[in-house]
Amino acid sequence: PFDVLVVGGGPAGAAAAVYAARKGIRVGLLAERVGGQVNDTLAIENYLGMLETTGPQLAAALQAHVQRYEVDVMTGVRAQALHPAAQPGGWIGVTVEGGATLRARSVVLATGARWRNLNVPGEAEYKNRGVAYCPHCDGPLFKGKRVAVIGGGNSGVEAAIDLAGIVQHVTLLEFAEQLKADAVLVSKLKSLPNVTVLTQAQTLEVLGDGHKVTGLRWRDRASGAEHTLALEGVFVQIGLVPNTEWLGDVVPRNRFGEIEIDAACRTGVPGVLAAGDCTTVPYKQIVVAAGEGAKAALAAFDELIRMPAP
Ligand code: FAD
Repeated sequence: PFDVLVVGGGPAGAAAAVYAARKGIRVGLLAERVGGQVNDTLAIENYLGMLETTGPQLAAALQAHVQRYEVDVMTGVRAQALHPAAQPGGWIGVTVEGGATLRARSVVLATGARWRNLNVPGEAEYKNRGVAYCPHCDGPLFKGKRVAVIGGGNSGVEAAIDLAGIVQHVTLLEFAEQLKADAVLVSKLKSLPNVTVLTQAQTLEVLGDGHKVTGLRWRDRASGAEHTLALEGVFVQIGLVPNTEWLGDVVPRNRFGEIEIDAACRTGVPGVLAAGDCTTVPYKQIVVAAGEGAKAALAAFDELIRMPAP
């Protein structure tokens, strides 16, 4: 049994494990894949203290940092169910694939999120080679170039406004007849000289030359005509899905599936904290997730020292 069991090994989970282990308590970390989404990133230029690094380098550094301490690291393991404590200070259970249940007095949920994919030809092939999902992360890589943003909800329109200040030209493609973003964002978008908005536009394929993105093929759903856009980047903004389905109704989640937390990462379920992209915390970034993981571990420790012994 653990004092703190961390579920998830991305920046949030790694930070939580390090902070908890430094309290000299029994800490476990279980994760499908240590490093999380960081593994899927090429260049990282906005993690403070590191001018530039790569995803695989940062993922390896997170793992090394966790293993500097006596943390029981279990990788390749998927959590399937959370069982809250029967009484305050009691054991919380985490059932993993295969059926075993790990017990802990405190659990930090840090299962992250995944970007919804377009699932069109070329998207997977050109990921990190022109296909991007995060304007804060990759926007500057497209300075002076032409990009498309797919998705006309708030995140797509925000991304298009953000990118318009950096790149040469932005084409925003929305599948529906109208943009779904807030009116104030839509009017801001429409005021920008280097943005074109296409509605009823179905993205069919990301085109490339074998090395990088060169364009996009789309269909005008009104006329049925197919068109090609020449460009260097495609930002997919059709949703970020938190990896929280496995929690069911045990922990309160909002309508997007994000775990609801307070300022100290508490979920409202005694002994259960949550951190990073799987939560309601705004701005899904590595530096934010790491900070949240640290907070969650400290909040867990605060609860632990007030708990009756199990
Ligand atoms: P994640 O990194 O998503 O980690 C989640 C962890 O939980 C993983 O270990 C996963 O295996 C595990 N897990 C999930 N479900 C289960 C389960 N049921 N059981 C057990 N384990 C589970 N941010 C930046 O700040 N700068 C960048 O340049 C940048 N570039 C990015 C590029 C790409 C392509 C992507 C996808 C994201 C990028 N981000 C960037 C965002 C950043 O990666 C995330 O904000 C950050 O990784 C979130 O950390 P996290 O620990 O909350 O979750």
